[in-house]
Amino acid sequence: MFLLLKKRNIIIGLIVVALTVSLCLAVTATVTSAYSVPKTGITVVIDAGHGGADGGVVGVTTSVKESDVNLSIARSLKHFLKTKGYDVVMTRTTTDGLYGMTTKNRKLKDMQERKKIIENANADLVVSIHCNSYPRADQTGAQVFYAPGSVDGKQKAEVMQSVLKDTLGTTRSAMSGDYFILQCSAVPSLLVECGFLTTPSEEKLLVSSEYQEKIAYSIFTGIHTMLSSDNPSIT
Ligand SMILES: [Zn+2]
Repeated sequence: MFLLLKKRNIIIGLIVVALTVSLCLAVTATVTSAYSVPKTGITVVIDAGHGGADGGVVGVTTSVKESDVNLSIARSLKHFLKTKGYDVVMTRTTTDGLYGMTTKNRKLKDMQERKKIIENANADLVVSIHCNSYPRADQTGAQVFYAPGSVDGKQKAEVMQSVLKDTLGTTRSAMSGDYFILQCSAVPSLLVECGFLTTPSEEKLLVSSEYQEKIAYSIFTGIHTMLSSDNPSIT
């Protein structure tokens, strides 16, 4: 009798465990499907300009480093793209440059490293994030650059510029620019100058996390607009 009871208890115990496990699996499956995003199969490289010893432009009133503003915007852009199901490759994720322990030719090593990352990413689009400078403090507005002679780059830059005009009010036009990062691969590449750190009113905006997010969302909207029109399967 005692043995029988013990056996029955073991069987009941096993049933309870089995039920609990299957319930947990069901809950996990529900949670996973609720938070998973549809994969687009499209890869975007985000390049946060400068980093490490190369801080880029220095903010005229706050002395903020362009490299730090670029990184904040790049991180936020990554978040928006990932949420929509894009694959994202970042050229840098920290404040460090990409020149390693080298003390000589850091800029060259840094740019070679970015080129390598872009070549290996097998991406559909490269977007490099920067902030602008000008000797006079009267220039404002985000502006998009593309590689000279790139028909696809020009078309995509114009889409991006038009979204930035609608969302940020910039009146600038997309232009070709002789930047190394735009010519690292055959992949359509854009460089977005998010605004002027040498104009105090725009610098004030660019250092705020709200505005950094706003710009990142505008750039995300531009990317999604151009890539979803190329790939009707994305919504
Ligand atoms: Zn820059």
